[in-house]
Amino acid sequence: MESLSVVVPCFNEEQNVERFYEKLINSTEFLKDRSCGLEIIFVDDGSFDKTYDRIMSVRSNDDRVRLISFSRNFGKEAAMFAGLEKSKGDYVVIMDCDLQDPPELLAEMFKYIDDGYDSVATRRVTRKGEPPIRSFFARCFYKLMKKISATEFVDGARDYRLMTRQMVNAILSMPEYNRFTKGIFGWVGFKTKWLEYENVERVAGETKWSFWKLVGYSIEGIVAFSTKPLMIASAMGVFFCLLAFVMIIFTIVRKLVFGDPVSGWPSLVCIILLLSGIQFFCTGILGQYLARTYMEVKRRPLYVIKEEL
Ligand code: UDP
Ligand code: MG
Repeated sequence: MESLSVVVPCFNEEQNVERFYEKLINSTEFLKDRSCGLEIIFVDDGSFDKTYDRIMSVRSNDDRVRLISFSRNFGKEAAMFAGLEKSKGDYVVIMDCDLQDPPELLAEMFKYIDDGYDSVATRRVTRKGEPPIRSFFARCFYKLMKKISATEFVDGARDYRLMTRQMVNAILSMPEYNRFTKGIFGWVGFKTKWLEYENVERVAGETKWSFWKLVGYSIEGIVAFSTKPLMIASAMGVFFCLLAFVMIIFTIVRKLVFGDPVSGWPSLVCIILLLSGIQFFCTGILGQYLARTYMEVKRRPLYVIKEEL
């Protein structure tokens, strides 16, 4: 018998767990008609509210509910990976606990799987309810990624996605420590159908993503899926070497013609400041890659499980 695994990363979602569960059960009635089993994997990502108890209470009435509880907060990326690793279904879908990923779409998603797609992904076409600066930077990020990365990045893409076992295995074969799942989905390829929907605001609780956390996450994405910034550093080096060469000739010629080698102290200060700024910037870029490499070679596990039921 076929089965579907639903992976739900949860971090401080005490208000949402039960609501999510109910809505999911209602929206997966159609699975019975196609005699497809169901397992729901809640990944408690080190919540410090009552999320754990809520999951346990849901689990006490339904043995299809599984729980993976982390020893601390490892982040959504780690939670998703753990869920995928432990999932047993022939199909796997990742869903947020805050009902921003409408479970009603599942039935439609399965239609496309039947049509031969390997994966059905979702993207929100509006960013209603989001602070305008955040939307602005998010759009810039996607535009930039389109330019500097060979991997496909879709603006507004969510992690809400139904995949076949084959695609899940491909994702699991990428054990990188610095995970940027939105890029990993694109990288593994497979035939993907995109469904669009209007942004839904979270039902309760707060988003876990502060503006600066998102900035950090986008740097993660850039470094993980492009080495273009390193090229930019090299290109700037070449450019300034050429410029210096021209300046040397200019200075020599000026000395020979006008005989004044000393003037130009203010411009010298500006040049030194500009160049040292650029040097630090480039060293910073190098540092970003080096730091990621350092974290990768440590081969630390992505998460630590405290309890698994
Ligand atoms: N989440 C998680 N670990 C974290 C942060 C978030 O497992 O460190 C979960 C969270 O419980 C939710 C999903 O990831 O189910 C999406 O988080 P959130 O709603 O805060 O993000 P947004 O929808 O605002 O992008
Ligand atoms: Mg959310």
